[in-house]
Amino acid sequence: MKTEKRANELFRPLILLSVVATILLLVGGYHLALRMNDAAKEREQQLVANGIANKIVEVDKGAVGQVVWDDALANLEARNIDWATDNIGQFLYDTSFFQYSFALDHQDRLFFATDIGQQAPLSIYTPFARSMHTAIKAARRKEAERRKKGIQLGSLKDPVQYHNLVRINGRVFVVVASLVEPDFGTVKQRYDRAPIVIAATQINDQFLQAFAQRYMLPDLKLRLDQQEDKRGTAQVDLNDDKGRYVATLEWTPGAPGTELALKLLAPTLVVILLFFGLMALFHRRSWRAAQQLIASEARASHLAYHDPLTGLPNRVMFFDRLGVALDQLRRNGTSIAVHCLDLDRFKEVNDTFGHQIGDELIVAASRRIAEVCRRSDTFARLSGDEFAIVQLDATPHAAARLAERIVESISLPMELSSGRVHVSCSIGVNLLTEGEVAAADALRHADLALYRSKNNGRAQYSFFEPEMDAAMRMRREIEGELREALNKGELNMVYQPQSDKSGKIAGVEALLRWKHPERGDISPAMFIPIAEECGLINELGMYTLREAFIASRQWQGLKVAVNISAAQLRMRDFPEKVGELVRECAVDPRTFEMEITEGLLLGDDPVTHGVLRQLRQMGFSIALDDFGTGYSSLSYLQRYPIDKIKIDRSFVANLGIEKESAAVVQAIVKLARALKLEVIAEGVETTEQRDQLIEIGCEEIQGYLYSRPVEAKQIDRMCDKPETLTSRRA
Ligand code: C2E
Ligand code: MG
Ligand code: MG
Repeated sequence: MKTEKRANELFRPLILLSVVATILLLVGGYHLALRMNDAAKEREQQLVANGIANKIVEVDKGAVGQVVWDDALANLEARNIDWATDNIGQFLYDTSFFQYSFALDHQDRLFFATDIGQQAPLSIYTPFARSMHTAIKAARRKEAERRKKGIQLGSLKDPVQYHNLVRINGRVFVVVASLVEPDFGTVKQRYDRAPIVIAATQINDQFLQAFAQRYMLPDLKLRLDQQEDKRGTAQVDLNDDKGRYVATLEWTPGAPGTELALKLLAPTLVVILLFFGLMALFHRRSWRAAQQLIASEARASHLAYHDPLTGLPNRVMFFDRLGVALDQLRRNGTSIAVHCLDLDRFKEVNDTFGHQIGDELIVAASRRIAEVCRRSDTFARLSGDEFAIVQLDATPHAAARLAERIVESISLPMELSSGRVHVSCSIGVNLLTEGEVAAADALRHADLALYRSKNNGRAQYSFFEPEMDAAMRMRREIEGELREALNKGELNMVYQPQSDKSGKIAGVEALLRWKHPERGDISPAMFIPIAEECGLINELGMYTLREAFIASRQWQGLKVAVNISAAQLRMRDFPEKVGELVRECAVDPRTFEMEITEGLLLGDDPVTHGVLRQLRQMGFSIALDDFGTGYSSLSYLQRYPIDKIKIDRSFVANLGIEKESAAVVQAIVKLARALKLEVIAEGVETTEQRDQLIEIGCEEIQGYLYSRPVEAKQIDRMCDKPETLTSRRA
């Protein structure tokens, strides 16, 4: 989510910037075009203003030929109307489009008028008279100046002409007043002041057309009302010689800016579109990259918090949730239960069928467990076959119920690709109802309770009790002390006699003893499992064997049974080491019996199998200890090279108390016979038990009835006096 936001945050200003830049470009372009248009219009207006001035000068020139002329001076001074009609009125009309022509005498009195070349009443001059006043005055002034300077002749190049613009009845005229002057001086001027010819030409369509053509103004027109300057039209006001408004020339000015803009618009739009297209493409790519990043972030964070095999929360997430739950417990007193689960004998399944099946089992078991959990529970895989649950709002009943349901559901057979498998699971439950507990301790305590479940025979759950912690602490201490004890020689062996069917001592079982300087005697039942757990068992096992081997040399014909731990049999080099010891101690393996427990066979571990065979080949016999308490099946008994079974003392203890015990013992004895195995009962304490065993057919016997485990020296003595057992028996 964050990455997507980041990508958008990065793009938003970029897009905004691009849009703003585009708008600025378009608006700027538009304004530039307008400015260009305005400049062009101004230029055109200037041009037209100059042009019209020039045009008027040209109009003036049209009359020059007829007024700087000796004949004109003579005829006009003589008021020759006919001559004037032909040579002024008619001529100026034909050649220079002067519609009206007038002539004033030396006293500025009108004496002649023509309209389109024809003589006309003098009255038509009236509307022109006022407007020409200034021009006439100027002409007279100039005339006086010339005379003063003594200039006699007029010049075509520099005629005395003044003009004005006049509007009459909606028509606009250029009116020129020209002083009549001699050109060669062939006639004599009669008066001091010469006549003046006034000619008027209308600014009509024809006039405008010619002008428009020259200046390329397509729709030039004349308006008679003054208007505000408008965009899109250009205008030049025509004023008279007093600066008064007469008319306006109006046309549509060229718009080079607009033209340029229009020309550039298409390519600019293409570039902008292209740019936005590229931006969109780039954004899409980045968005996709962001999406991929989000996905991989999600994947990574999922991997960081989940177990890849089962998809369950992993240890990290478990502790996370546990931390939150413990916080709630502290703040609101919401009780929680921490369950620690372990599949019983998972290692055996893994070793027997391979890791793939092991994985299948883990997945199948995790599904079953997940089904009985609530959504609010956090069910996590911590490692291997170790699972844990944080159960929220847990009462003792609810916690027990969940554990129970898990035990039940796991005990149902599972279909794996290797076939149907039966497993079970053990659970430790730590119910937390108050107080401050560290997450690690919460789980450790559940683990201690799990340990209890395992020790109590698995496939069950146990609640944590504070004593367990103390017991565990003691175990840890003992673990450390055991190492020292081995080095300091605090361990020693005792031997318990075994009688044969004739009641004589036939063998002994070597049992380990630990005399702790402070704790006193510690039972092997207590420290052997610790040694197995911490890996000390191999050293301890070799010590036991060596002691037994050495002691045995005193006892001719006695079979010496030695307890061998499962962990020792999983060592491939165990037979080799035993062989070395045999040579070193110079003993005969045939006088030794190795006692192994039933549970060991269940795994069907090929290494164990091989080790047992090798030991057998070396001459050792194999006895199955504590028979009846484990899971041995007939097939195991047949498959493994076993010589003897040892009926567990729990059955013996109940002989004469529980009827079933006798039946079980009887069944075991029958089984041993059928498989041609020897059979011995251990833990025989009373004569009743002995008699019943003999009656059933188990004649080899070991127990307090005959002797407690004793020092080797005492066995020496017993060997010397073989009747000892017999006499006790009697
Ligand atoms: P186990 O092999 O079944 O040994 C027999 C246990 O029963 C011994 O306990 C013995 O003292 C006790 N016992 C013998 N007769 C009677 C009787 O009449 N009544 C009662 N109540 N108990 C009797 P211990 O010596 O405490 O050994 C306990 C277990 O520790 C042994 O059970 C054996 O599994 C293990 N163990 C002892 N020594 C060694 C050893 O050197 N190596 C290994 N790996 N395990 C050993
Ligand atoms: Mg034993
Ligand atoms: Mg036993």
